[in-house]
Amino acid sequence: MEFISVKKSMEKGNGQVNIRGWCYRVRNSNKMAFIILRDTTEIIQCVVEKSNVSEEIWNEALKVTMECSLEITGEIKKDERAPTGYEISVSSLKIVGESDTFPITKDQSPEFLLDNRHLWLRSRKMNAILKVRSSVFQAIRKFFNDKGFYEEHSPMFSPTSCEGGSTLFEVKYFDDVVYLTQSWQLYAEAMISSLEKIYTIAPCFRAEKSKTSRHLSEFWMAETEIAWYKFEDILKNAEDLVAFIIKYVLENNEGQLKFLGQDIEKLKKIKAPFPRITYTQVLEELKKDGINIEWGKDLRTVEEDAISKKYEKPIIITHYPKKIMAFYKPKDPNDPKTALCFDMIAPDGYGEIIGGSERDTDIEEMKKALIEQGEKPEKYEWYFDTRKYGKVPHSGYGLGVERVIAWLCNLDNIKDTIPFPRTMARKTP
Ligand code: ATP
Ligand code: MG
Repeated sequence: MEFISVKKSMEKGNGQVNIRGWCYRVRNSNKMAFIILRDTTEIIQCVVEKSNVSEEIWNEALKVTMECSLEITGEIKKDERAPTGYEISVSSLKIVGESDTFPITKDQSPEFLLDNRHLWLRSRKMNAILKVRSSVFQAIRKFFNDKGFYEEHSPMFSPTSCEGGSTLFEVKYFDDVVYLTQSWQLYAEAMISSLEKIYTIAPCFRAEKSKTSRHLSEFWMAETEIAWYKFEDILKNAEDLVAFIIKYVLENNEGQLKFLGQDIEKLKKIKAPFPRITYTQVLEELKKDGINIEWGKDLRTVEEDAISKKYEKPIIITHYPKKIMAFYKPKDPNDPKTALCFDMIAPDGYGEIIGGSERDTDIEEMKKALIEQGEKPEKYEWYFDTRKYGKVPHSGYGLGVERVIAWLCNLDNIKDTIPFPRTMARKTP
């Protein structure tokens, strides 16, 4: 027997179809059973009439419970009253896997749904989000592959930190300890002397101790590192990537975005270039609104939100204070107290989606910065070799994939962007 998807069967529109999936809803009378079947593509109403089927099939229909898996054969036809506009008049039905009383019913708390995440993934909401998630990964790969980049990987076990010690996960490594990676960047900088243009999409681990709606302890970062690229070049690459992801998701997932309540027209307007504003200008802008930040302090979520609210597109904030930036972000020769670095902030309060910079090539400058941050430069000797043997200007950035998904899917919390979220408070299921 050949099965087609619910969506395909609706496209066919008439005649006999074989479909399979799970029971989304069921309701019986003594003459009829109404089964709404779902597969990954759609839901459809299937009607079993006692007078139309054998006693065996009717008895099977009476055993159908929510979330049991089923194979159904029947005649499909348009029906305005049915939930998705089509109805199947069932001639044959088989339960493949019975289902106990399904624990998820209407109006359950977010914590209950997270405890039952393995089952909640079946919901139409999670189904829509995970389809967008898949598209975002595809879009990133397509963007870089079409430009001739190589996809490469760095180790997940790392002897040093990249983003600073406070968020490191320590793991036992035989008789020693190592850390779970926070970013592929340092290794990527070694790889570009061979491959020049590279990217990755990989998990990153950060022990984020504050409870926010934007931080996971395990998340996926899309990172690129590009030889010969100067600051201006990397800004352009970053905004082109984000514009491309939006275009790709609009082309492939309009239905899901609408289902999730996203404003399609608003997204359609987001095209590169994006507004650029320096850190110092941000402080001046915020001062006008009565928000005073001392020059040299990093921008916090509230300040990012306040500035991004003024724009309909993502914005690029450049030239943060050098002394609060990671050691590899170089000072701007035209304004040495600032660094050639940037953050991209999404609109609608979704926060920072990209962090990037040109990379310092001056070993002494980097050593000085490491010492200032309480790090041991000796641990980075291999990294300094990348500068010792034929250094070139280069730049890169990391995009938080889940942050982008949360924004595109119009979600309140980053936890819903990933099948099984990991945060300080949650490591199961
Ligand atoms: P934030 O200030 O929001 O903590 P960050 O400055 O630590 O971000 P980067 O180190 O620049 O972030 O990492 C690159 C990108 O990875 C960020 O722009 C963001 O989109 C994403 N990201 C960082 N930390 C997390 C996290 N804990 N969970 C999900 N995404 C994250
Ligand atoms: Mg952080």
